[in-house]
Amino acid sequence: MTVAAPRPLNFSSGPAILPLEVLERAKEALGQLGTPSELGLEGRLSILEISHRSRAFASIHERAIERVHTVLGVPRTHRVLLLQGGASLQFAMVGMNLLEPQRRACFIDTGVWSTKAYKETAHLGPTEIVASSAETRYDRIPAFPEPERYAGASYLHITTNNTIYGTEFAEIPRSEGGGPLVADMSSNIGSRPMALERLGLGYAGAQKNLGPSGLTLVFIEESLLARKPLPNVPTFLHYRSHADNNSLLNTPNTFGILVLDLVLEWMESQGGVAALGERNARKADKLYRVLDESALYRPHAQRGSRSTMNVAWTLAGDTEEERDRRTKAFLAASEANGLSGLKGHRSVGGCRASIYNAFPESGVDTLCEFLREYERTAG
Ligand SMILES: *Cc1c(COP(=O)(O)O)cnc(C)c1O
Repeated sequence: MTVAAPRPLNFSSGPAILPLEVLERAKEALGQLGTPSELGLEGRLSILEISHRSRAFASIHERAIERVHTVLGVPRTHRVLLLQGGASLQFAMVGMNLLEPQRRACFIDTGVWSTKAYKETAHLGPTEIVASSAETRYDRIPAFPEPERYAGASYLHITTNNTIYGTEFAEIPRSEGGGPLVADMSSNIGSRPMALERLGLGYAGAQKNLGPSGLTLVFIEESLLARKPLPNVPTFLHYRSHADNNSLLNTPNTFGILVLDLVLEWMESQGGVAALGERNARKADKLYRVLDESALYRPHAQRGSRSTMNVAWTLAGDTEEERDRRTKAFLAASEANGLSGLKGHRSVGGCRASIYNAFPESGVDTLCEFLREYERTAG
């Protein structure tokens, strides 16, 4: 079987859909097929078999980091680190490196992921939630807190896109409380132009919009590298160590970095984040319109907080049982019609379409048609 064989429409929340061109080129990089030399690999050795200290890998690595700046728009004032351990390790690593003595870390609570970031940091030092949308089941981004609310903090942490609930900050806010803004951007990095210069540190697990799992992008303002990590934190968990060693402190995820570079190259070929952002907005608008016009589907996220990357909805019903039954029937029908991965996260229930950069607009059209047709016939 080849990767070009017909595939179901993939709405997976992560690891998520990758552009077919990227999969084809990644396959070439495994060596036996195609033209590895084009990727800068030596002879016919595959990416999986060469040293991370080799010239061939160094050029892939450098190119990927350069493209993080040029394609994603990470400013040159920030160092780019390509690490492992996922966004989840960053929940802890941020606190280990950025918590200052007697200064708390502040968090905006927008659901499961931001809560995890908060809890991991609470093991390390004082933490405080300064805004939350828990009361409305995380159906919105709460109002940004007044500067006095987080004054004197080591940093203020946000989750720019809430993968589970389908809520998203309309733009990256400005931290005016003194401490830098830190953002988990796992599920919307690269989805449109963003004011990344407002962040002291940003991080993202690659498996939503950037590539395969097992690779984490971190970018950190040069000045923050000077902060002293907490005592007893091993050097492997210091950002400074990774920055000083150009992310080659130990063996990195070499294949993941190659795929990241291919994804960034693909993004460039699509017109970059500006063009992708327009396409993503159009994709999401179409889908929300169908949900808003329907009597059967209930979009979870409120207007003004809606994500362009993850669209979550439940099915209407008088009782929980009825809603569950309808959701199950809908998901079975969608799967049978080649729409894969629409099941919502267990904490919200219902359905969710993850429509990251690589998800085609035609696929959204197909889903919209299916939603309408399903409501007309089965709903
Ligand atoms: C998927 C996701 C995570 C978890 O990432 P891992 O790489 O699995 O640790 C964290 N935050 C957000 C916003 C996510 O979407």
